[in-house]
Amino acid sequence: MLRETFIHMCIVVAFLFIGGTIFRKNPFFNSTSQKVLLGLSAGILGAFLMHFSIKLADNILLDLRQVAIILSGLYGGWIALALTALIIAASRIIFFGIGPSAIAAAITIFIITFLTGAVSSFKWTDAKKAIVMTIVSTIILTANFFYILTHYDREVDFYEKVLVFYVPLSLIGGLLAMYISNYITVSNRTHYNLKQQAQYDYLTGLQNVRQFNSILANYVVSDLDKRKECSLLFIDIDNFKKINDTYGHPAGDEILRGIGKVLMEVTSAEDKVFRNGGEEFSVLLPHSHSETAIQIAENIRKNVETCTFLMPGDVQEHITVSIGIAYSPGIKTPTELVAKADLALYKAKSSGKNRVCA
Ligand code: GH3
Ligand code: MG
Ligand code: MG
Repeated sequence: MLRETFIHMCIVVAFLFIGGTIFRKNPFFNSTSQKVLLGLSAGILGAFLMHFSIKLADNILLDLRQVAIILSGLYGGWIALALTALIIAASRIIFFGIGPSAIAAAITIFIITFLTGAVSSFKWTDAKKAIVMTIVSTIILTANFFYILTHYDREVDFYEKVLVFYVPLSLIGGLLAMYISNYITVSNRTHYNLKQQAQYDYLTGLQNVRQFNSILANYVVSDLDKRKECSLLFIDIDNFKKINDTYGHPAGDEILRGIGKVLMEVTSAEDKVFRNGGEEFSVLLPHSHSETAIQIAENIRKNVETCTFLMPGDVQEHITVSIGIAYSPGIKTPTELVAKADLALYKAKSSGKNRVCA
């Protein structure tokens, strides 16, 4: 029995680890596809646990399938739960057929699934939900054992096998699984947040200068190698210092956010928009030749010019930007492309601002 228990716990831990790596890129389970994936994985975990069950006595097997249900409900809500319960119910029939104990098992699983779904919608911490559901499911499953053992006259000592062995296993195994899954989720979420902070500008939500440098280094170089055309726009707000001096820094921040939105609206999904720092932005246009780049830059310039920004005291303010463009043909390194775009921006500034220079 100890050997089977050990294998059982190894399966739980292995699944949690694999699940942690699957959901590492987006550990929030907020999309339907993620909830479906979680529901399916937890269902498979439940099926595995049933297949590698622990033999309590000759005709009594036990497993920790409730752990799969609780994990699924806590992180994925009702959608994930429904899938997990469905897979577990189907596997139960496939592995053990239909009999009186199957019906009792189905009822217990239904109750645990329903309670987990209800508890997962409470405004409790994940830890509290996990502890409560582990205890509640252990009580329900113990009652199920009691019913089976007393009604079907199985030769098993309820006190020795269930109270002394099963209850501690269910509590300790369940809580250990919850602790590990919480540890993996928290570390995945911390990793995700730190990565976001390292790659995105907190004010505008655009990619930051670190991303600009790394994308330019990788992407543009590979494009240059393939002799495809690409363009780089450097965008600088005109007389921005005056805005800050007149309306204050928070109002200036609002304008920076607004410019970020305009850039996202004007560009397409494959273009890459960055805030390089201060009031300087850039747009990388892969696979675009000079006419397209000029057209996009002009659109940006015009859209910014016609935008109205509401400043403190309900003052309607207009701002302009200057844009420098560099194209890839004839350029050998990303640094060269940046230098050309910078030079073009300088030209736009020195020839009167609010214009596009290539
Ligand atoms: P020019 O037309 O020549 O570009 O003039 P400018 O005033 O825009 O240029 P300058 O580089 O002299 O000023 C940039 C200003 O941008 C100075 C700084 O206070 C402001 N700035 C930089 N970062 C931020 C920020 O995060 N928020 C706000 N509100 N202002 C910022
Ligand atoms: Mg500047
Ligand atoms: Mg400026």
